[in-house]
Amino acid sequence: MSKEKIYIFDTTLRDGAQTEGVDFSIEDKNKIAKVLSDIGVDYVEGGWPGANPVDTKFFSSPPKMQQTLFTAFGMTKKTGRSADNDPGLASLMNANTPAVCVVGKSWDFHVKVALGIQKEENLENIKETAKHFVKNNKEFLFDAEHFFDGYKANPEYAIDCLKQAYDNGARWVVLCDTNGGTLPNEVREIVSKVSKIIPGNNLGIHAHNDTENAVANSLAAVESGVRHIQGTINGLGERCGNANLMSIIPNLCLKKSFSDKYEINIKKDKLSSLTECSRLLDEILNRKPNKNMAYVGASAFSHIEGTKIDDNVVVGPYARLRPGTILKSHVKIGNFVETKKSIISNKSKVNHLSYIGDTFVGKNSNIGAGTITCNYDGIRKSKTKILDNVFVGSNTSLVAPVKLESKSVVGAGSVITKNVKSKSLALTRTEQKEVKDYIRKKKNKCVELLE
Ligand SMILES: [Zn+2]
Repeated sequence: MSKEKIYIFDTTLRDGAQTEGVDFSIEDKNKIAKVLSDIGVDYVEGGWPGANPVDTKFFSSPPKMQQTLFTAFGMTKKTGRSADNDPGLASLMNANTPAVCVVGKSWDFHVKVALGIQKEENLENIKETAKHFVKNNKEFLFDAEHFFDGYKANPEYAIDCLKQAYDNGARWVVLCDTNGGTLPNEVREIVSKVSKIIPGNNLGIHAHNDTENAVANSLAAVESGVRHIQGTINGLGERCGNANLMSIIPNLCLKKSFSDKYEINIKKDKLSSLTECSRLLDEILNRKPNKNMAYVGASAFSHIEGTKIDDNVVVGPYARLRPGTILKSHVKIGNFVETKKSIISNKSKVNHLSYIGDTFVGKNSNIGAGTITCNYDGIRKSKTKILDNVFVGSNTSLVAPVKLESKSVVGAGSVITKNVKSKSLALTRTEQKEVKDYIRKKKNKCVELLE
């Protein structure tokens, strides 16, 4: 049975950018868009063209992204103007993106109080906005603001708002929990009802985190039918934030109840890039990385000292194995694993970019490219023993006195300092330099994981 696709929509550069104290430059926006696109996010919402000079300029020379749809954000047309003569819609159209995401009211109370217009006028604004973009060949997304509160107050009207967008060609109708007050059981109940009227393949969720339920609500919405999730890197967003894509993505990829039924464009081997993505945002915002973040935090997957990990176990990406951990044979260790003074038994596999300082590595093990096998602070002493028939991947940094037994092979581009016994090493000076630079970068990444 083929799996259904869940689409991931990132709004770090728009909703995230509305967070107090956040002020992205164009360079920041380009960096973030690139990392999201490299990971395989389906949509990157770049901002609100026409709302401020940075966003307008950003859209005038958009980032190059292969599969990711670059999306511009705006509001439904104003009452009393035609869609063709609405300046807001014109800015969106001029942004020249393949997709536009437009927010509109879906709570009758807000239509009356905030907009001061008749309910029918709001429906007309949604309808005409949808028609305008669809006829101009844009992929049209409608964010139904305060949808869950609107539905609780007046379900018929809230649904009517969605239908104006859907019936006029919207690709996605996105149910927004704008104030983040809805609980997972309510999301389940309401989305199940909505998906009987608008197919799940056209429904999305946009959850805020004011009750710490944004991730849970996003996942509950998927279980009840939606196939599109909006969120941000590290859950960046006003007040208590948006749904955190750094948790949602691994949950969809790694948890069987989701991965058996659904697929996303982000492949498992890209999961380790989420750490990079999370750190990039911290770096741009000059924030200290939160150690306790699920999946990407330095303390995630931290195992208790002295733990024994049995045969044939897979240790997930980002694991941090405390000193004294014993890994029995055939253990597979994911990317970005850090372990010190541990024993990794025979026939185990250490994946790329791990850090295995002062560790005993058994026979016939395979150490992936970019792995750093040295003492963390020092390069002064490393007790890693690499026994017979171990393959050490390319671009690995092995620091003296590493002992390589016979028949071990060290891949091209590795740097091995003095006192290393090996028969298989041959590197030119240029290669050594290239690799040193490479390792320095990779090592910094590992160091980040430790702090
Ligand atoms: Zn929002």
